This record gives sequence, C-alpha cells and structure tokens, in this order.
Amino acid sequence: RQEQAFVNEFARLGEDLPVLRARLFANENPHGISPKAREALIKAIDVGNRYAFREGAMLREMIAGKEGIKPENILLCAGSSELLMTAALFFTGRGGKILTSRPTYDDLLDCASAFKAEIVSVPQTKEHRYDLNAMKAKLASTEGIKLVYICNPNNPTGTILPPDELTAFCKEVSQTVPVFVDEAYIDFLAPADRPNLAKLVTEGYNVILARTFSKIHGFAGLRLGYGMAPAKLVKEISAYNRGEYEISVTTITAGMASYNDQDWQNFCRTENAKAREVLYKGLQQLGYEYVPSYTNFVLFPIRMKTKTFENQMFRNGVGTQTRDFDNQPWCRVSIGTVDEMNIFLDAFKKVTS
Ligand code: PLP
Repeated sequence: RQEQAFVNEFARLGEDLPVLRARLFANENPHGISPKAREALIKAIDVGNRYAFREGAMLREMIAGKEGIKPENILLCAGSSELLMTAALFFTGRGGKILTSRPTYDDLLDCASAFKAEIVSVPQTKEHRYDLNAMKAKLASTEGIKLVYICNPNNPTGTILPPDELTAFCKEVSQTVPVFVDEAYIDFLAPADRPNLAKLVTEGYNVILARTFSKIHGFAGLRLGYGMAPAKLVKEISAYNRGEYEISVTTITAGMASYNDQDWQNFCRTENAKAREVLYKGLQQLGYEYVPSYTNFVLFPIRMKTKTFENQMFRNGVGTQTRDFDNQPWCRVSIGTVDEMNIFLDAFKKVTS
C-alpha cells in the first residue's frame, strides 16, 4: 500500500519514480527466506497440482508440538492479515465495539470499522505502551464491547508489555470479552520477554493469538500465518474463512522448512539487532531521540511534516512510513541490513539539514 502510495504521488507530481535503495516501509525481512525454505519451495513445485491437505495438517502438528497445544487449536491462513479480517468479521460483523489502545496496528480495527463497528481506544502510557489498567476501566464503563485488540510487541511503537502483566490481563478480561493478541513480531523477542499465551489457549481462556511468517521467516510475499485459540472458537471462526485451503502447497512446505530452521531465525534476529544499533547510534549523533524497540522497526519523532519527510526520503531512494499522533510527526523506519541503515542515515542527514 505504501509502495503504491509513492507510485501514485510521483505520478501526480509528474516525476520519474526514484530508484529505491532501501525499502524500509513495510517491516519486511531484508535477508530473504531461509536457504532450507528455498530448497523446499522449489521441490514442492512438483506437487503444485495437488491440494495441500496433508501439508496443512503437518504444519499444524508441527506448530502444536512446539507451542504445547493441539492441531485443532490452530487456524492456518495466507498471512495473519487474513485472520485479522476474519476476526473483525466474526466478532463485529453485526456491529458492536472493539476496545484497544492507539497508536497500534489498525488493520483489524479498520476492517471492523468497515463493518460499522465502533473503535473505543484509550491513550497509551508515556513510555508508549498499552495502558492495561485504563483498558480495564474502559471495559467496565462501556457497554457492547465484543473484542479487545492488543498488539504485542506493538506496531508502530515497537514496545512490549511485561509478560506477567499481559498474561494476567488476558486471564482476567477474557472471562468477559475475548482478547485478540497480535504477536506478529514475537519472534524478535528474547525468551524472557515472551509471554506464553498459548498456555492460556490450552486452559480454555477466550484468547486468540495471531502469528505470521512474514517477519522473522521472511515470507511476506509467500503469505503464511496462523491463529491459535480454543478449539471451539477455531471451529466457529473457520466458518468465515477458507483457512489452509487458501494457501499454496509451495508456501506451506517452505513454511515447515523455515519453522524448523532455528539457525536462520537466530541469524535474522542477530542481524536485526546489529542493524538497529547502527540506526540508534546514527540518530543519537544527529540529536534525535527514539522509542527503544523490541522489533524490526523503530519509531522516532521528526521535525518536519510527515508527507514532506516521506516524499523527500523517497526522492533520496529510501522508503519509510510516517505517522501523526500526540501532536507530533513521527517516522517509523523498518530495520534493513546494516548497509541499508547507513543509506537511511545518509538520506536522513540530507533531508533534515
Ligand atoms: N500484524 C501486525 C502487527 C503487522 O505489523 C502486520 C504487517 O506488517 C500484520 C499483522 C500482517 O502481516 P501478514 O498479513 O503479512 O502476516
């Protein structure tokens, strides 16, 4: 969407589209897919004439084994966006309210708004985190809330909630309203920072977890994600969704290879942290503050209008995203390779000097 927005903007201005040297607007994995996934993907072409019934079941088994849940607790989807949309439809297709805290990832909320649901949002803390106490108070004082949406780690802030606090919140709140936790960036966290919400699924709490292969696995273009929820809920949500039958056999087969390739995931996590440090240092040297991030993107306040900044960066070959909130323009830059972060910093210096 961002890419298309740039294409449209430059067409409107009658200018040639600049060559993009650092694509840092969509939180993609700059290292590509695991070599083992690539090999599996190529081999699976030979069974491209077959539906992926067996492969879908195998991947669900694999995920269930790692998460300590059952295959029937898992719903595969062609990227987690599909699950976000299905959940919006399932919970608020006939109206109602969704409680969240903004700024956050608006996809599920925008889908719900299209179905005429109302979004109820509380402000975040001064550390740019979800304010769970404020959410509980809002829930108690608001009629008609059908779903609570939490993104952890949060996009666009890159912040996380303490695992114990989030777990306690999910246990308590899900007694009254289902809690949807979008964990798209969970794979970038150190083990101590990861809440074990899958355990709540086995204990029957009304929580739905969304995961994606688009980030640490680099599958943004291949499209693979999954949801985890109590089996009854998975079955009910599945009535609104074609699930694994919408995903290609090549993607699912490559997904299995990637899921097992811990070395590749570790490599991507380590490289991400390295490149993030390069960005932090560069911003510090230029006198810019940033929100410390647990993800593959960083949010920081800028000193010019968002659209002007985005377009000038793009003219210098760098794609970024911007937001306006708290009476302040912000840049959200994805973490690319170390080289790409240096390209970003060079362009940033030019644009802001
Ligand atoms: N959730 C969050 C928080 C995201 O940032 C994104 C994409 O950037 C998604 C979900 C959707 O990703 P996908 O549909 O590629 O799985």
